Amino acid sequence: MAFFDDLTKALTEAVDTTVKGAEKLGGQAKLKYQIMTQKKELEKLYASIGKMNYEAFKAGTDNSENLTEAYAKVENLLAAIAALEADAAKAANCKICPECGEKLSKETIFCHKCGTKQEIDE
Ligand SMILES: [Zn+2]
Repeated sequence: MAFFDDLTKALTEAVDTTVKGAEKLGGQAKLKYQIMTQKKELEKLYASIGKMNYEAFKAGTDNSENLTEAYAKVENLLAAIAALEADAAKAANCKICPECGEKLSKETIFCHKCGTKQEIDE
């Protein structure tokens, strides 16, 4: 059954290559996953802020304390996402425009979206 042996071997090798590729990608894929997770958190937070506001409006209560707390969480999440996106860009040999958030190649001097002069590192 040499044919099947060869086939099995070929399939095993293909799987090996895929796993190795995924490992190599590990850093970037992990970052993308983290960004996605944080963005989902942010969406949930925005939704709950909306609901909170509506309920406070409906009940005629003051909601500002809860909102301040929720907004602080939003700020934290936005900062975390920005940091992750900068890491991901670095891993992909790109950078993020600090002004508008556009993804730029590392050599870019002026952002093609907003025109901000970029800091050149290295
Ligand atoms: Zn820009």
